[in-house]
Amino acid sequence: MIDTERLQRLLDRIDGRSYPAYRDLKGRWRLGEVTVVVEHVQGDPFAAPSRLSVEVDVGLGEHAEDPDAAEATEDFLLRRFAAGLRSSRRGSGKSGQLRCYRPGPEICERSAVRLHVDGRVQVRFAAGLPARGRRVLGREARGLLMDDVVHAALGLRLDAAAQQALAAHIASVQRQRALRRQLADHGLVAFVENGSRLPRSSGITQAPLDDAVPFTSPESLAVTLPVPGGEAVGLGIRQGVTLIVGGGFHGKSTVLQALARGHLDHVPGDGREGVVSLPDTVKIRAEDGRSVASVDISAFLRDLPGGRSTAPFHTDDASGSTSQAAALVEAMEAGARLLLLDEDTSATNLLVRDARMRALIPREREPITPLVERVRQLAEAGTSTLMVVGGVGDWLAVADTVIAMTDFVPSDVTAAAHEVAGEAAQPPDALPTPLPRVVRTLGREAGKIRARDTRSVRFGDDDVDLIAVEQVLDASHAWTLGHALRFLFEELVDGERALPAVLDALDAIVDDEGVEALSPFSSPSGDLIRPRRHEVAAALNRLRSLRIAR
Ligand code: ADP
Ligand code: MG
Repeated sequence: MIDTERLQRLLDRIDGRSYPAYRDLKGRWRLGEVTVVVEHVQGDPFAAPSRLSVEVDVGLGEHAEDPDAAEATEDFLLRRFAAGLRSSRRGSGKSGQLRCYRPGPEICERSAVRLHVDGRVQVRFAAGLPARGRRVLGREARGLLMDDVVHAALGLRLDAAAQQALAAHIASVQRQRALRRQLADHGLVAFVENGSRLPRSSGITQAPLDDAVPFTSPESLAVTLPVPGGEAVGLGIRQGVTLIVGGGFHGKSTVLQALARGHLDHVPGDGREGVVSLPDTVKIRAEDGRSVASVDISAFLRDLPGGRSTAPFHTDDASGSTSQAAALVEAMEAGARLLLLDEDTSATNLLVRDARMRALIPREREPITPLVERVRQLAEAGTSTLMVVGGVGDWLAVADTVIAMTDFVPSDVTAAAHEVAGEAAQPPDALPTPLPRVVRTLGREAGKIRARDTRSVRFGDDDVDLIAVEQVLDASHAWTLGHALRFLFEELVDGERALPAVLDALDAIVDDEGVEALSPFSSPSGDLIRPRRHEVAAALNRLRSLRIAR
């Protein structure tokens, strides 16, 4: 008997029965061109929806061989599937609901979609199996599976126009990666192509602002980089210390925010396809109230009143300056190569101490060594800094490059800045090497993991605050970070390996097995997004129960 008939009979048989009868749906159903796989059946119509996947031969196997083309193709197909997936109300609770991961403008590896070398694509999603009260609605289930799901799946087979759009999608991703991969060879940490449109249409959407002033690099800082089929011209941000200055509302933070997403590719039309930064670009800010677990912040603070140690420093309630000092040290521990800072979200006393303050309070009585005294040492050690500056003029003297934004147009004011800068702040001593940290095992189960938005993820009894971790993309990303922590504690943290080695091990496993390795279920959920080590480390560092064994 063919599967279509078999499924029809099954649904007729369980129609009107109590909800658990849906368990018989588990398995693979070949419905014409589309295979529907029921991986996990929800316990009742109000519970988390059932996990399903579809498989269709889309004949795009040739793209699966090349990782860049594969990721671009997967992203393209997921967007098609999401656009074709329509929920219809089919009973009580979540009956009839169809939900898959809906990507923003960024392109990243996700468990929602996999392209295989044989040309099959697999898309994972969630469905509310229909019920009235707790009774199976067989006819509605038929409509859901055989019409709604099959319709969305058939949309994965591309017509000529869609094939063309896919080719453009792949070419765009390859171009972005070509740009990003050559940054280091050119001594650059970031690049903003001329013509980019950086601002978003509002604070809550990711759509580009329609009448944005297109980006144009100052002549003196322009670089030309080869890309497949041509070249790209734009602002090259060099290794070292770069400042973006200018009056309020002239577009400084907008540049910084675009760079904070530059480690990821963007869809064509986003306006930021020509904005790339190093893969290890980390945005940092002050975050008073956070916990800090045995971080050696002695480069920035020492000799605290009361003889309290900063090597290492431990607190459940950090101040602005200690939180930002910890974030700096933690970012470098995880391997940051470009630090992004905005004066607006920084602790000023960590950034600078001006001449008058130095005269009033002698160095011996000030525990803080401000970043302005250390930033050149960080650059020499291989970590560049790009900072948006409004008021702290002492920074001009330590900058390699100073870019002024005027009416959203950048200009090179480095020479003028150095003229007014005066003496550069000097470090008090060599940059101390921070004490390494070894994470202690959790000593309990991770517990329930939940994330509603980008602001936090629940990890058992802990609420991990992610508000200051600005590079988290969405709720799925936050949820993935929770599972990355669970995975770390279950598989990798042994109370002996230092944290960077644990992060290396995580990267190696995800490289090898895909982000599915982090799935809490045996049949992977479609909600995982490949997490960078930096966000994993940031979440771990904000876990209030984190303990360090030295
Ligand atoms: P700053 O950090 O210098 O105060 P912002 O980057 O916050 O300025 O930008 C101020 C406003 O200008 C924001 O509403 C932003 O969307 C808008 N904006 C930024 N860049 C551009 C641009 N290139 N074209 C048009 N509007 C822009
Ligand atoms: Mg600003």
